[in-house]
Amino acid sequence: MTTDADVIIAGAGPAGSLAAYELAIRGVSTLILEKSSFPRYKVCGAGLTYKILREIPFDISSVFETQIDTIVFSSNFREVFTRTSAEPMLFCTNRDKLDDFLLQKAVEAGAKVIHGAKVMEVLQEQDFVNVITRDRTFHSKLVIGAEGASGAVARSAGLRTNILPGLAWEAEIMADPEIVKAFSQKVFLDWGTFPGGYGWVFPKGDHFSIGVGGPASLSRWMMPYYERLLKYLEMEFGIKVIETISLKSWPIPVRVKESVFHNRRVLVAGDAAGLTDPLTGEGIYYAVRSGILAARSCHAYLTGVSTSLESYTHAVNKELMQELLAANRIRDLFNIVPLRIHRFIRDSDRAWRAFGMILRGERWYADVPQGFGKWKRLWTLACTVSRWISKIREQRFLTTGFRKSG
Ligand SMILES: Cc1cc2nc3c(=O)[nH]c(=O)nc-3n(C[C@H](O)[C@H](O)[C@H](O)COP(=O)(O)OP(=O)(O)OC[C@H]3O[C@@H](n4cnc5c(N)ncnc54)[C@H](O)[C@@H]3O)c2cc1C
Repeated sequence: MTTDADVIIAGAGPAGSLAAYELAIRGVSTLILEKSSFPRYKVCGAGLTYKILREIPFDISSVFETQIDTIVFSSNFREVFTRTSAEPMLFCTNRDKLDDFLLQKAVEAGAKVIHGAKVMEVLQEQDFVNVITRDRTFHSKLVIGAEGASGAVARSAGLRTNILPGLAWEAEIMADPEIVKAFSQKVFLDWGTFPGGYGWVFPKGDHFSIGVGGPASLSRWMMPYYERLLKYLEMEFGIKVIETISLKSWPIPVRVKESVFHNRRVLVAGDAAGLTDPLTGEGIYYAVRSGILAARSCHAYLTGVSTSLESYTHAVNKELMQELLAANRIRDLFNIVPLRIHRFIRDSDRAWRAFGMILRGERWYADVPQGFGKWKRLWTLACTVSRWISKIREQRFLTTGFRKSG
């Protein structure tokens, strides 16, 4: 069978483009099939935590709109406080720019791309894979599913297990340029308003991205929360909406258990693999990391260094899932004592430093239990108990909504 490329990648988001870049610089023939035409809008806060700079093998600073060193926190729109770090913690960008830039890098490295090609299904044969789009069938030795939350490849390869659906609503908001300027180094974060939910304001140079997110099971409360957030922002900070450019919702898939991330000749990365942080909704970092790991496993397989793609599943579980599972435990704990944790970050310099170090990739969620020393066992117990209480709270909130909690 003549193939169109050694590796076909479905989707040119950060997972797909980083995978393509890593394969192309190793001389592997790589074809990206992307359903949209680039540059394209993608609903996303596009906050890049500092730690991503260590992972992307080229400079991306040209696409940064703002550099964040300050976070304004509120808990259910109360007890507002501001914390500033001596070093940048976050960069904000726009996804049309970021994704176009990453794709260009992959193309410069030698990857090919076809726009307007939506992958519907993948069918695996003994020695190759059929990649079926609306117009034609492509063939490759391996496939990386990086098609995001839609998960077409992941589903057709049977790799869509252990995923908890999250959801977020967001819009690009035009406001008074003076206010946008005053906020250019600040992010606003409201948390503790509903279980597992949060609201944010990210400054994007000439506008704000304002959004809310949380478990998809609580989706009916997200719009009321979003409206409350806008009212609050106007009252408290003078952020008055002049124009709403695009208000959209999009799923945030969250993998909640160690899993299998490959099936014979197919691997999944990024949102298609459910690799997002359950605490913050951050997914770009994990898309980049998993895209790079997927490319390395494909290269090892194609050059005969390994006989299966097992190394990919192993690497994702070891390098990414441990961190995401630790984030899940912290999320459960946060759900039962949100105000305590809010005040802890306000009052404790150590806690604030640790928060900043996690964003900068100098510490990890998985390190948090170490801070408890001999009480580490208590941490494990507290996490188990909080998982159950957190589930009950989510259930209760589903019916009571903001009436009792707000
Ligand atoms: C409202 C919101 C706010 C967010 N804010 C942040 C944030 O501030 N920071 C952060 O790190 N993460 C954030 N995320 C998460 C982040 O957007 C994702 O985790 C990230 O985009 C995942 O990258 P990806 O490459 O896996 O998938 P995507 O970025 O979704 O890219 C997938 C690509 O595949 C294409 N595609 C889809 N289906 C097919 C198909 N069948 N065939 C071919 N191509 C296809 C799409 O057009 C797209 O270009 C947010 C998510 C939402 C919903």
